[in-house]
Amino acid sequence: MSDPLCNVDHMDDDGAAPGGERLTSAAGSVPAGALAVAVLESWRGVLGEVRTISDAERVDLIRALEELKSAACAAQAQLSVELDASQRAEQARAGVPLSRRGAGIGAQVALARRESPHRGGRLLGLAKALVVEMPHTYRALQQGLLSEWRATLLVRESACLSVEDRTAFDAEMAGDPAQLEGLGDRQLVARAKRVAYRLDAASVVRRARKAESERCVSLRPAPDTMSYLTGLLPVTQGVAVLAALTKAADSARARGDERSRGQVMADTLVERVTGQETADAVPVEVQLVMTERTLLAGDDEPAHIPGYGTVPGGWARRLVARRLGTPELAGLGRHTRVWLRRLFTSPTTGQLVRMDSRRRTVPPGLARFIAARDQTCRTPWCDAPVRHVDHVVPWSEGGKTGADGLEGYCEACNYAKQAPGWRTRAGPPGDESGHVVETTSPTGHRYRSWAPALPGHPPPDERESAHTDRDSAAERYLLDLHRVA
Ligand SMILES: [Zn+2]
Repeated sequence: MSDPLCNVDHMDDDGAAPGGERLTSAAGSVPAGALAVAVLESWRGVLGEVRTISDAERVDLIRALEELKSAACAAQAQLSVELDASQRAEQARAGVPLSRRGAGIGAQVALARRESPHRGGRLLGLAKALVVEMPHTYRALQQGLLSEWRATLLVRESACLSVEDRTAFDAEMAGDPAQLEGLGDRQLVARAKRVAYRLDAASVVRRARKAESERCVSLRPAPDTMSYLTGLLPVTQGVAVLAALTKAADSARARGDERSRGQVMADTLVERVTGQETADAVPVEVQLVMTERTLLAGDDEPAHIPGYGTVPGGWARRLVARRLGTPELAGLGRHTRVWLRRLFTSPTTGQLVRMDSRRRTVPPGLARFIAARDQTCRTPWCDAPVRHVDHVVPWSEGGKTGADGLEGYCEACNYAKQAPGWRTRAGPPGDESGHVVETTSPTGHRYRSWAPALPGHPPPDERESAHTDRDSAAERYLLDLHRVA
């Protein structure tokens, strides 16, 4: 599945074109910021030039460019901290209470750096730690002696220290950058841990407690329509879970169970977590987004499962057949509650068919529809799953509760765009390129996001598909459903 498309340009408050009026201030001088951007852009052109040079010069250039990358990261950190201070002051002037100031600033850094908002927040935190509390580490980064990643490692290892201890840590670790020369990342972290422990042994305990507070479970796709369920657990609990599954596998095998140890462990995990009798009988709601050609005409166009991703067309057809209780899996239907939502995609735009509502609140069917259309949070570069379906333009400002007027957001992005100065608007309905949302950040930068193309886009040439199993019960059933719809 392709990434959501997005681009950025800048519009001054008066609507002037990017790089237009802005370059000349009222006093007729060139503002330093605009000049810096122009200079940096000219470097990109120079860097792209092919030169005839010796290998020694090539190595020198590789080193110099590496140091330039670090220096650029230091400059980004400094600018992010200044942006943060300035935007917070702006929010204070707009009457935002102290507890809510700072919202959306990490998101602005993220959009500028083409990163997810989550990572933007982390980068802003890193910048503040470096610029405000760790001057030696910051200087080493600025001088190109430390990469952004290695500076991140030092900030991470000092995260549990008090401000005073962190100052001492900074001086000891980076006061003499020559000491960092030649250290691998692991050696750097080992040295940082030793220094941090010596400064504050209690921080080790706090750190363990903090790590425990970050326990979680996540799901991500694996090849061949499988998935990885990952639990980040305190070590004793992780060991206990594995021991329990191993014991279950051993006793099943002792009773003559023919499944492999791994299979029994996986099935036992599903059964115990869901409370179901067998792993297969999990009540499941599968939203399958596929074209009619794939569903009924044996086409190879892949299908899409929201929250998982792309699945092969043939696999999707088999899933439909199985869930409808065809003979090969007779009896399964009694235990399995499956709702197959027929979300057909338009043959011309690849967009899902439209659903609308007059209500302010988003009805569940429409919310599912938006989540299926958008697949992930609509903020550019944000990969997070859709948690909120919200109006593009707020309901109070005339936003509509329809497919065009709604978009899917992760929780963090939905709160971020509610900070003052953010504006969103939907593109024209029926646009050939699909559902477009344009977001304007408090600094006037505009970012566009297109709903990703779903199965069936672009449409293949009209053709009679080689049809293999049109007469299966499942397909006759679905064909009837479609005729009624
Ligand atoms: Zn998001």
